[in-house]
Amino acid sequence: MKKNLNQNHSFGPRTNENNSENMKVECGCTTHEEKEYLNNFYSLSVDCVFDCLFNTDSNFYKEYFAANNFFDLRVQNWTDNSRKLEYNFDLGFFCKTKNIEKQKILKSVKNECFVVETEVSASGPLYADCVTTITKYCITKELDNKTRLIVNVRLDYKKKPSWAVLSIIESKTSSNMKSCYAFIDKKLTSIENKIN
Ligand SMILES: [Zn+2]
Repeated sequence: MKKNLNQNHSFGPRTNENNSENMKVECGCTTHEEKEYLNNFYSLSVDCVFDCLFNTDSNFYKEYFAANNFFDLRVQNWTDNSRKLEYNFDLGFFCKTKNIEKQKILKSVKNECFVVETEVSASGPLYADCVTTITKYCITKELDNKTRLIVNVRLDYKKKPSWAVLSIIESKTSSNMKSCYAFIDKKLTSIENKIN
């Protein structure tokens, strides 16, 4: 007869912490909208992945910021699980956009689950100001010290551009997002290798 590992927890005091040991946690979203850019597992804690992605003072964040040609970051403090970031984005050829990013923590359970939604609107050249980029980060515990990160991105048009402009925006956003999340994926894997 197979031994049920959960029986190890049948005796002794039971606390919430014991119950949650090695239990997979779901983000609980009803949908993950539009386009998925990342869906991967890392041998890191949920809090560590959250810190990498949202602690603007961390080396991880600074490297991510520079790698994406973002600069002049101004960050507000978190208030009621929300904050605003402002930064510029260098498009090359002396073009830059001014970005405003609103971040909202929709769900937060220490070392189990974080769901964060960000909304980026940009003003500047290349039709940047007709679209808002909405990104959802679901960071969930898969096992103790193993975390799943899912990132989905949706484009919300303030005014619907012509078909030609729409296809330029979509292909440009898609290539920017792919390189941005490839960087995050590679960087999280390198931290994982350093720690473990
Ligand atoms: Zn989710």
